[in-house]
Amino acid sequence: MNIDSLTHILPKEISEEIDRFKKLDKKFTELFDEKTKISQAEELIGEIKKNNIDKVVVGGFGWSSDEITKMVNEYILDSKNKYDEIIPVCSVNLYSKNPELELLNYIDKGAKGVGELHLNYDEEIENNKILINTLKIALEYNLPTIIHGSEPVGHSYPGKGRNLPEKLYSLAKKNPSNKFIFSHFGGGLVFYEHMPEVKEALRNVYYDSAAQPFLYDKKIYKNAISSSNIKKILFASDYPLINIKRCLSQLSDLSEDEKNHILSYNPISVFNL
Ligand SMILES: [Zn+2]
Repeated sequence: MNIDSLTHILPKEISEEIDRFKKLDKKFTELFDEKTKISQAEELIGEIKKNNIDKVVVGGFGWSSDEITKMVNEYILDSKNKYDEIIPVCSVNLYSKNPELELLNYIDKGAKGVGELHLNYDEEIENNKILINTLKIALEYNLPTIIHGSEPVGHSYPGKGRNLPEKLYSLAKKNPSNKFIFSHFGGGLVFYEHMPEVKEALRNVYYDSAAQPFLYDKKIYKNAISSSNIKKILFASDYPLINIKRCLSQLSDLSEDEKNHILSYNPISVFNL
């Protein structure tokens, strides 16, 4: 079974009213303009079928408005009811009043993880009550939390933010029993697993390869496996930002065993499939 471990879809209402939603949500404004490619569930399913992907993780973003958070989470869960291929992951507005009950409700409806979260608005994010409670719930239900990772160097892009390796490291260290998936190879955090104490602190951390062709050359796969562990790297496209075929073509240097792990065994394990 081949799995794409991170993609995004949005309901039609949002793509039809980009300007209204831009006023509502800071993260939306950062990520989307009229030219940004937005996909609905139907297109995503067409795309995975063309590329022999059997299951696809669909997540949100680190929204900062309750309205968008709710609309997108419900759309992802509705889409899962329509398409068996979808593995739904729900996002949380870390600046909301008390979104914990909603999160429990999404878990009840089948959410397999939390995310994708963006933490960059608040330097004191580790003390954010909603984040603390969200991680408690994720731990209780054994769900992974997907967090965007930002490279501290290199080109900028919409939504890059400052989820820097040191911030992700400190969050994982403070919450050692939680399962995390740090997106985009954790902004490079994966390479610090060459340090024994870092490897130990990050033992429950996985890394996805979302948007890899925009960020890194394809050698990163072999290097990430060697610095971390063959069991902790996940294939992800970040579709519709980039097409799945192009992302899959980057796996050409990997052995069958390596491909089986990052496309199949690892997501099955981390998302409890
Ligand atoms: Zn991301």
